[in-house]
Amino acid sequence: MANRRRPVRDADVFDLDRFGLPLPVHFPAIPGLSRVVGGPAYATRGLAEAGPGHVLEVTVTGPGDSWRRTWFERSESGQRDMYGHTEQKAVLRMRLAPGLLIEMFGYHPPCPYENGCMNALEILARKHDVDITYFVEQADRLAVYEFSSTGRRSDLRPPRR
Ligand SMILES: [Zn+2]
Repeated sequence: MANRRRPVRDADVFDLDRFGLPLPVHFPAIPGLSRVVGGPAYATRGLAEAGPGHVLEVTVTGPGDSWRRTWFERSESGQRDMYGHTEQKAVLRMRLAPGLLIEMFGYHPPCPYENGCMNALEILARKHDVDITYFVEQADRLAVYEFSSTGRRSDLRPPRR
């Protein structure tokens, strides 16, 4: 995948709805998934938090800071595999390509299960040569999980602000 074209416009990465929010672009053939992929992206944290589940803020920046798009995901319980998890919902909305910088700000660390989000993000980062950074703000520190073409690592930093 190393020779995939770099995404010069956000339309290379996203299919956007009339509100400028990203629609799913990948539809894994898993029974029961349709309800997940029909779930919306939210423009604001407030809208995302208006229902059950936890919320993930996602920002995607194009190569060289060429463009940026932000939205919010809400988790959905009762889905098959991990497709109701916020990280998986987010990546189903992107055509990943080299040079993308994806930042996620979540309430919980990515789940560690075999088919969980930790492994999914690592696999996608390696395969598509994208950088994914996942932040979890905790009481007295910021937990940071970094995924890239060379693998993953985690770190604890002082809190922001
Ligand atoms: Zn997960």
